[in-house]
Amino acid sequence: MLVVHKYGGTSVGNLDRIENVANRVAKVKAAGNDIVVVVSAMSGETNKLIDYATHFTPNPAKKEMDMLLSSGERVTAALLAIALQSKGFDAVAMSGRQAGIVTDDIHTYARIESINPAAMQNAIKEGKIVIVAGFQGMTKEGHVTTLGRGGSDLSAVAIAGVLKADQCEIYSDVDGIYTTDPRIEPKAKKLDTISYDEMLELSSLGAKVLQNRSVELAKKLNVKLYAKSSFNDNEGTLITEENNSMEEVLVSGVVLDKNQARVTLRGVSDKPGIAAEIFTKLANENINVDMIIQNTGTDGSTNLGFTVPQSELANARRVMEKFDHDIQGMDFDDHICKVSVVGVGMKSHAGVAAKAFRVLAASNINIQMISTSEIKVSMIIDEKYGELAIRMLHEAYELDK
Ligand code: ADP
Ligand code: ASP
Ligand code: MG
Repeated sequence: MLVVHKYGGTSVGNLDRIENVANRVAKVKAAGNDIVVVVSAMSGETNKLIDYATHFTPNPAKKEMDMLLSSGERVTAALLAIALQSKGFDAVAMSGRQAGIVTDDIHTYARIESINPAAMQNAIKEGKIVIVAGFQGMTKEGHVTTLGRGGSDLSAVAIAGVLKADQCEIYSDVDGIYTTDPRIEPKAKKLDTISYDEMLELSSLGAKVLQNRSVELAKKLNVKLYAKSSFNDNEGTLITEENNSMEEVLVSGVVLDKNQARVTLRGVSDKPGIAAEIFTKLANENINVDMIIQNTGTDGSTNLGFTVPQSELANARRVMEKFDHDIQGMDFDDHICKVSVVGVGMKSHAGVAAKAFRVLAASNINIQMISTSEIKVSMIIDEKYGELAIRMLHEAYELDK
């Protein structure tokens, strides 16, 4: 069997833990499998490097940020290879570039365009354990890039896809995908399986246990994906194609995203082209707009609200403040959060959204914005009620049962 394992920051957070990972990998190899291991930087390392850079300027050049941030993963890859070699295993560490990962040139948020697997394949053929530094690649011109926060998950899935690995196992400090973040609700239950689409919603809505782009790619390449813990041998969660039994489950999870901010525009001229102008200007600055609400206009003007990631609020404010015409007033609020309920069963069952609204109403929590899709309902509420709302919703949909 050929397997790809990915070990996240906590799993390689110190030398003892790297040793633990080396032992786990050694066991898989000794059992006669081929294995490629993708590693993250040691926990806290990427943030530390970002702090170093922002000591000098709040807006460091993205190309140099990639040079800087990619180093964290290379340290871990080399240390894990050395640890394995010290146990008598033949291991080789590769940077993203050496592993043949080619990306576009959107620095700090690059997309993988192709992978030339020859170097990895040759090493596997020679019986080596291949260790790849996650979260990074290079442009066609040979510049180092990184894949966005949490991007080592994406490296692992992409490598599993190109090598046609039998499975891809993502190891962290939780032993699978739970009905909600177990740090918020200790009664959260582990799921045996979850569909790619539900997992994609959960990750996109804020569950950082898997990076959303990695789930999207796993679905596209049909990679058999597991979430497991590096601290025990529990069964993990399998992320896979949707099947009929999944639709019987109404709601599979609830998610909290605290990284949200809201922009409200008051007295916006109610005429064609305004929304296009506002959102084009935001898009040109690479600001990701999520929920949007607009009221019916009265007296020739209307109110428009939308959410952006908290990290982009200052940028959004800068863009909006350039509108000296067509908008009478604006507020910016980063004390909000988004709570979401996700489940493929919603496609075929009515009343899921109404129940969520009733649950929040019962706790006197005001809903500021709502958005829905076929398999999710999201609500913007005051940040201070985020955890409470998650626990109430978790109970209301009986996710602890
Ligand atoms: P790594 O550093 O290994 O990539 P992450 O910290 O990115 O790991 O992801 C693991 C964390 O994800 C867990 O510690 C857990 O608190 C959080 N998490 C959020 N939502 C969920 C969920 N639904 N199921 C399991 N873990 C979750
Ligand atoms: N080290 C990177 C981060 O912290 C990538 C990863 O861990 O997946 O975002
Ligand atoms: Mg992660």
